[in-house]
Amino acid sequence: MSIIRNALATGLLLSSVAHAADVIVKMPNLNQKSLSLAGFTVKEALVPSLGIYLISDSNKSVTASLAAAEKLGAEGVMENSKMQLRSRATPNDASWSQQWGPQKIGAAAAWDIGTGGNNTDGDDIVVAVVDNGTDINHEDLKANIWVNAGEIAGDGKDNDGNGYIDDVNGWNGYNSNGTIPAGMHGTHVSGIVGAEGNNGKHVAGVNWDVKIMPVAASSGDTAVVLRGYNYVLEQKKAWLASGGKKGANVVSTNSSFGVDGAKCSEAQYKVWNDVYEAMGQVGILSAAATANQAWDIDATGDLPTSCESNYIISVTNTTKEDKIYRQAGWGKTHVDLGAPGTDVFSTVPGNQARNLTGTSMATPHVAGAVAFLHSVASPAFTALSKSQPAKAAAELKKIMLSTVEPLADLKGKTVSGGRLNLQKAAEQISRY
Ligand code: CA
Ligand code: CA
Repeated sequence: MSIIRNALATGLLLSSVAHAADVIVKMPNLNQKSLSLAGFTVKEALVPSLGIYLISDSNKSVTASLAAAEKLGAEGVMENSKMQLRSRATPNDASWSQQWGPQKIGAAAAWDIGTGGNNTDGDDIVVAVVDNGTDINHEDLKANIWVNAGEIAGDGKDNDGNGYIDDVNGWNGYNSNGTIPAGMHGTHVSGIVGAEGNNGKHVAGVNWDVKIMPVAASSGDTAVVLRGYNYVLEQKKAWLASGGKKGANVVSTNSSFGVDGAKCSEAQYKVWNDVYEAMGQVGILSAAATANQAWDIDATGDLPTSCESNYIISVTNTTKEDKIYRQAGWGKTHVDLGAPGTDVFSTVPGNQARNLTGTSMATPHVAGAVAFLHSVASPAFTALSKSQPAKAAAELKKIMLSTVEPLADLKGKTVSGGRLNLQKAAEQISRY
């Protein structure tokens, strides 16, 4: 016997208003006559083949009606509610009207399919924001910051035995400790990936619900960068090896940093490509920002977006007018797609939000999209992401690039010739 109250309202994001004494019951072994004898009026046989009726008794309160139906042997009884659909297309976040970016990538329609959260197996989905740190106490981010369940804060021990002391929320590659600085840049990037959506505050991330793992390691210093990426790599390996009991299910890194004009093939930078490949092998895509310069990076080089790894998705900055921003790079061979990056409103430290411009802002739309797509993907895709994580990552990238919205200004200047389209990609991966 179960009493379900407003279960639908929770699951489908509906707001409910109680309706006078109407009760829905499922009682396949009883008929309308027995209900009448018990004092109920049968208002409608909702699903007759399953024995689901809408009934009411004007002399009873809703609670008394539920109890009476239960006594009659109903399998499931629930208070009927007048459901009012609240469109996901317009979240109630205070600054939603300023968020032109999500609107350009079809996020409103994509949010009718899902709003982030877990995959079909119920696993957390994690984005590693490799940047200068994230304000983990920001009121619009706090709920979506990854927490290492096996670690105890501030005891100076490596409680979960993963080789990192006090890594409660991520890692600081500058100081090799678990203290995450509240960087302005990384906080803004984090909000684009996954500021809590529909909470009335600030902005809605591409994911309303996601786990953000802040890794403070944006740098041109290869040692710092490798420290950061290695943390991400080891967490994902542990997650796969333990069947989800340890580590973290990182599906994307966001790398909104780089070295202008650097060639990935140069001796000192080759290891960057090696680490993107290694992360790809465990199912991690790396969304990477190309140069904030009006350059063809196929010719000038750029780190990391000129690296050859197929697990990098390199991103340029598009405007409200559907153009490449005047100071953003392109490259027919090495820049995969565009995403909104001009005047992007997102979170900054101290419970604030503001506009920033750059490929740095475009890229987290893509990293966020990778996580979002895992959350709406079919069970078959979720299974593939565990049995063959590298293949799943490559498939997901292929879907993202094949579903872009073609833009004239990106044609011949990017691999895909278009801008990220979250809705179309979501539709494809949900049927994978
Ligand atoms: Ca640890
Ligand atoms: Ca919000």
